[in-house]
Amino acid sequence: MSDQPASASAPVQPDEQEAAVQRSFRELGLDSWLEDALRSLSIKQPSEIQQACIPRILAGKDVIGSATTGSGKTAAFALPILQKLAEDPFGIFALVITPTRELAFQIAEQFRVLGAGVNLKQSVVVGGLDMMTQALELSRRPHVIVATPGRLVDHIKSSTDAVNLKRLKFLVLDEADRLLDETFADDLAVILDQLPKKRQTLLVSATMTDEIKELNFSAQEDRKPFVYECNARFDTVEKLDQRYVFISSTVRDAYLAHLIRTSFESKTMIIFTGKCRTAERLRIMLRELGLRSTALHAQMSQADRLGSLAKFKGGIVPILIATDVGSRGLDIPTVQVVLNYELPADATDYIHRVGRTARAGRGGQSVALVTQHDINVLLNIETKTGRKMEELPVTENDVLEILNEVALAQRVANMHLTDNDFGSRRKINREKTGEIPAHKRGKRRKDDEHVSASGGSGHKKTKVKAA
Ligand code: AMP
Repeated sequence: MSDQPASASAPVQPDEQEAAVQRSFRELGLDSWLEDALRSLSIKQPSEIQQACIPRILAGKDVIGSATTGSGKTAAFALPILQKLAEDPFGIFALVITPTRELAFQIAEQFRVLGAGVNLKQSVVVGGLDMMTQALELSRRPHVIVATPGRLVDHIKSSTDAVNLKRLKFLVLDEADRLLDETFADDLAVILDQLPKKRQTLLVSATMTDEIKELNFSAQEDRKPFVYECNARFDTVEKLDQRYVFISSTVRDAYLAHLIRTSFESKTMIIFTGKCRTAERLRIMLRELGLRSTALHAQMSQADRLGSLAKFKGGIVPILIATDVGSRGLDIPTVQVVLNYELPADATDYIHRVGRTARAGRGGQSVALVTQHDINVLLNIETKTGRKMEELPVTENDVLEILNEVALAQRVANMHLTDNDFGSRRKINREKTGEIPAHKRGKRRKDDEHVSASGGSGHKKTKVKAA
């Protein structure tokens, strides 16, 4: 592959020749201390996106990179940033922006492990956690900040010298298609305003839009970004077995319970729902049915969200019930099954959801509960992914047998939500504890509270301009 296709209008796809020439991390230009750090993670050979992007980033190029879920995108940008940082260490060297809080922690963890050899100082700046602690960390000028947009803007607005990004060398937009959607436009504009024009900008996602691929951050022709696209734009992973179960919506919960008890018994799985309330309701219902699960949604406190994720990651509970706050980027290698309790309206969300399994070359399975009302959504997903889903056979009589038991569990769950005034109490608590800054009360939160996380084309987009 040559450097020529760096034109924004001609994305590079790995050709057969490049795929055949497997280069080592050293041959991509990385120092031996980074190779050692990778070895400690049992990572020996660069993935395709790493092969293509690491040399370009080291050479100073802006990069727009897209590759299927779980293909090593984080290391593709973290490794060259760390190498450049080691050559000339100062803070604040790099800013990584990501749409969800859990993803911010996950990215920071990869930086921590890979950057152990250079005494990396880093800071995670996300909503839902104490502003003062974060402000103190920021005042110590970490080398790398990993942030969600809303909270970073809160700090920027809190005082003129709260976050000094003027010497920054790298800006990374992880899940760039999501971040460049209109939801984040105002916050990103504030952040971009703080950054120097001379910097490298790196955009990564598993789903890139044509508009993003055509972005040019620089007015100079010779600074056109290197655009890398591995496989088609909306590919799901080859090793993912994608199924659906055709159901009537009135018995959705019974099918869910039946599948967990039979086809997916003892499997580690994520169940995706559209709403926080549904996630919470299912958690209680499954508990009543003797099935252990934990939840992840925006109506939980950040401490509970992190605790819940830790329990799931650590194998203490086998089922995570999540809204789309968990659909992007989360890397939990043990996940064997993704179950879409409801299909997301947007096919992009579907791709990210099922991308939580079959990661880094492993296999995995996804199942969608589909009613007669979801046929068009299903067809749309199949068109976008270019893959036909097969039906998973389920014996209806087996489901009918557990209807009464499930109905009882449903009643307990509904009563629990009503008794605890689900939703309103949480909001009051967040306001009391200062989790929602005063200037944002009454407004919709900008980071990671959205049920539909993708957003199609036609929205107002942020312009990522630099020099
Ligand atoms: P990501 O796409 O960045 O979320 O990475 C998905 C998973 O792949 C993570 O668990 C990484 O540690 C792992 N990974 C990253 N690079 C490689 C590689 N070159 N070979 C094997 N696994 C990798």
